[in-house]
Amino acid sequence: MKVLVLTEKPFAAAAVNGIREIVEGAGHELALLESYTDRSAMLQAVSDAEAIIIRSDKINAEVMDAAPKLRIIVRAGAGYDNVDLEAATARNIVVMNTPGQNANAVAELCFGLLVFAARKFYTGAAGSELMGKRIGILAFGNVGRNVSRIAKGFGMEVWAYDAFCPKEAIEAAGVHAAADRDELFRECDVISLHIPATAETKQSINHDLCATMKKNAILLNTARKEVIDEAGLLALMNERTDLRYISDIKPDLDAEFAAQCAGRYFATPKKMGAQTAEANINAGLAAARQICDFFATGNTRFQVNK
Ligand code: NAD
Repeated sequence: MKVLVLTEKPFAAAAVNGIREIVEGAGHELALLESYTDRSAMLQAVSDAEAIIIRSDKINAEVMDAAPKLRIIVRAGAGYDNVDLEAATARNIVVMNTPGQNANAVAELCFGLLVFAARKFYTGAAGSELMGKRIGILAFGNVGRNVSRIAKGFGMEVWAYDAFCPKEAIEAAGVHAAADRDELFRECDVISLHIPATAETKQSINHDLCATMKKNAILLNTARKEVIDEAGLLALMNERTDLRYISDIKPDLDAEFAAQCAGRYFATPKKMGAQTAEANINAGLAAARQICDFFATGNTRFQVNK
């Protein structure tokens, strides 16, 4: 089988070497198209691939139609909103992600950003400490769980809410389970977002919800920019000059946030959450293993378009 690594933003060399070892070790062929700049090169590269490994690369119906042999797409990472799942299902293509492989990397970044914000962006002004503050984790998945582990190390009080994870499972992790999302927002000093971008969550972090946040609260977004109602949040931050917004995903209104909320807003220049050598390698190798296993045994454990 031909396995194509299709990455506009390439993996680290160590990850590619590891992927090659796994794929070729299982008797398959590995092809690479990295750092591509035009779509025609991408469409050409997929034309004889049976499997592709991608990162944030956009895979839509046009790409799938250019890949008549394609049986499986694996997104090396957690979020898979860059793949048109309906189009894949209609063509009998299995789509998988590699859950959990970059969760620690994202969680560690949360605390880098939080300390930076709590210490007034290292301007020299007196800031505040995280110890004793209450962090509210919205979505207790792989990243959320890692955030809770690290938060405890900082001496924070940890609350969480997840629409699909039972309260008992949250409490079993030694975390207070909020009754609902509204209570989480009302009661916590820091809200850390770990929801996927879905039809239900897009734009769901809006003016009215954030207006209930405590005085001097910090909203931390390492999830997706689409979950924020940017205009609503910007309007609120002009009304509530105590609120801070820190994001790992530059909003479309970045310039407006920067100009109107100076000293209370920060966005990483590029999405940094999963950008560690470890996460890169973990996710890439997991993708390669999942593809080989799928071809060998039909294992679809991590399929997201079932
Ligand atoms: P995950 O699939 O392990 O967890 C997602 C959790 O969200 C699940 O527990 C699910 O029950 C919950 N959930 C889904 N819809 C919800 C809703 N409406 N309300 C409350 N909870 C809901 O995913 P993860 O690995 O924890 O990653 C979370 C998100 O973080 C990803 O979907 C991705 O968008 C984002 N992410 C960003 C980066 C980055 O570089 N900044 C890296 C990895 C992941």
